Amino acid sequence: MDLNTLRHSASHILAAAVQELYPGARLGIGPAIEDGFYYDFDIPNVTLTSEDLPRIEEKMREIVKKNEPFERQELKKEEALKLFEKENEKFKVELIKDIPDEKVSIYKTGKFTDLCRGPHIGSTGEIKAFKLLTVAGAYWRGVESNPMLTRIYGTAFPTEEELKTHITKLEEALKRDHRKLGRELDLFNIYHEEAGPGLVYYHPRGARLRLLIEDFLRKEHLLRGYQFVMIPHIARGSLWNTSGHSGYYRENMYYLEIDKQEYVLKPMNCPGHILIYKNKLHSYRDLPVRFFELGTVYRYERSGVLHGLLRVRGFTQDDAHIFCTPEQLQEEISKVIDFAFEMLKTFGFEWEVDLSTRPEKYAGAEENWKHATDALVEALKQKGIEYKVDEGAGVFYGPKIDVKMKDALGRPWQGPTIQVDFNLPERFDLNYIAEDGSKKRPVMIHRVVLGSMERFLGALIENYGGAFPLWIAPVQVMILPIADRHAAYAQTVADQLLSQDIRVETDNRREKINLKIREAQMQKIPYMLIVGDKEEQQKAVAVRSRSEGDLGISDLNTFLEKLKKECYNKSG
Ligand SMILES: [Zn+2]
Ligand SMILES: [Zn+2]
Repeated sequence: MDLNTLRHSASHILAAAVQELYPGARLGIGPAIEDGFYYDFDIPNVTLTSEDLPRIEEKMREIVKKNEPFERQELKKEEALKLFEKENEKFKVELIKDIPDEKVSIYKTGKFTDLCRGPHIGSTGEIKAFKLLTVAGAYWRGVESNPMLTRIYGTAFPTEEELKTHITKLEEALKRDHRKLGRELDLFNIYHEEAGPGLVYYHPRGARLRLLIEDFLRKEHLLRGYQFVMIPHIARGSLWNTSGHSGYYRENMYYLEIDKQEYVLKPMNCPGHILIYKNKLHSYRDLPVRFFELGTVYRYERSGVLHGLLRVRGFTQDDAHIFCTPEQLQEEISKVIDFAFEMLKTFGFEWEVDLSTRPEKYAGAEENWKHATDALVEALKQKGIEYKVDEGAGVFYGPKIDVKMKDALGRPWQGPTIQVDFNLPERFDLNYIAEDGSKKRPVMIHRVVLGSMERFLGALIENYGGAFPLWIAPVQVMILPIADRHAAYAQTVADQLLSQDIRVETDNRREKINLKIREAQMQKIPYMLIVGDKEEQQKAVAVRSRSEGDLGISDLNTFLEKLKKECYNKSG
C-alpha cells in the first residue's frame, strides 16, 4: 500500500472525527507529509491542546471500526460550490474557485465529505496503525494576514510495529531538541521580547562552547594556509549594487540611512573580502589567496519560518573566499572537500554529497560553467566520493557542492557548501598578473565548512544529545564538596585544574551530595570530583563519569593525565 495514500486517508478520518466532536469545525486542507499527515481546522470558540488528542483518536478508532468505504464522486464545479457553501465550508469554497478544471472530485466516508483529488484506500478499516502527535497553529495557506487555523499532526503506518519504531525515534528526537536542551543546559536564549525574534543570545556556557569550536576552527584554517581578515558589519548601498545583491537579494537585506546615504547591514561577507583582495595588485605567485573570517551576517526571514538556532535573522558563518587561477581551481576544491570531511568527522557526523549544476537562469559564459562543473566533478571523482547530481539547482553565478551532515539519529542537516563563482570577479573587475605579464581574471570559491555557527551548534547539540565530548564541553569538571568543611580543599583542587586549562566549576551549595551529583549529571558534565574527609586526607579525589558512573579514588595527577589524553583524542 502506498504510504502517502494511507496517511492522507487517515487525515480524512481525523477530519471526520473532529467534525463529529466539534460540529462547528470548518475544514482547511489535510495532506500527507513526510513522516505523517496533518489537517487544518477553524474551530470557533475552541482552543485544542494535545490533551484533546486522545479523545479525537478514540473517535477516529470508531470510524475505522465501522469500516466505511471511501466513495469518489465527480461533480461540476458549480455543484461542488453549492455543496460546500451549504455546509459553510468557506475554505473549501475558496479552493474550488481556484481550481481551473470544469469538474472536481469529492470523497465521502459515512457522513463526512471532502473536496479531494484522491487517491484513497478502499475503506476506513484498512488503517491499522495511527497516532495523533501534536497541535499547532498555522495560517490559512501559510499567509500571515490570513486567519490562524488549528493544525493537528499525526502519523500512520501499515503495522503497529512500524508505528512504534517511529514513535520511539520521535521521542528520542524530542529529548535531543536543541531548543529544549539550550534551555536546560543554559546555553542560549533565542527570543527576548525586547530584542526581537530570530536573534540569539549566548549565555556563558553556550558562548564557551561556541568559542571552543571557533578556536579549533581558526587553528585548522591557519594550518591550511588561510589568512584571517575582518570586515565591518555595514557598508554603503553602492557596494551591494556592484555585487548585485541589491537586485536579487533585496528582500532579505536590512537598510539603514546614514548621512542621507543608504547603507546595508551585511547579509554576506563576500563583497567585504573582495575589497580586501582588490586593495593590492596580485601576481600569479600570490595565488591562491584564501581569506577566512567568522563573519556575522544579517538576513531578513519571515517570522513564521524562524526556528530555534536553525533559522535566525543574525548568524555567523565560518566563511572563506578563495581567489585562484582557473588552473588551481580543482586542487583548491579538493582541499576544501578534505577539510570539510575532516571537520564533520571530528564532530561525529556522517555525510552525503550533492552536486548542483547550472540553473535555467544563469550569469557568465557557458565555458566557465563547464570548467567549474568539471573541476567539482573531477575533485569528487578523484577521491572516489559518491554524490547525487541535483540538475539545475546551482546558484545563478556558479555550480556548487552541498554536503548534508547526518546526525546520530540519521537525520540530515545542512552542512558545508563549496561554490564556484565567475560572476563576482567580473562585477568587481578582479585581476592578477599572469606569468606572461598579462592581466587575468581570478576564479572565486565561496565556502563554509560548518556553515552557520548557530545552525551547526543546533545540529551539534542534537547530535550529542547535549552530552558534548570532553574537548568542547563548556564545563569539563564539576567539583562537589560533601560538606562546608571541604570547601577549602575543593578550592585547591579547582585551582590546580584551572592552572592546567581545565574548565572547572565547584558546587558549594549546602545540598546533599546525591542531589549535587544528580544535577551535575543532568547538566551532562563529563566528570564530577567528589571531595570529602577521605579524599582530603589522601590528597585525592573521587572520580565520577557521566557515562561510566563511579570510577573510584584517584590522585589528581593521574586524573589530569586521563583528561588530557581524552581531550587530545577528542573522544569521551
Ligand atoms: Zn483526500
Ligand atoms: Zn561568499
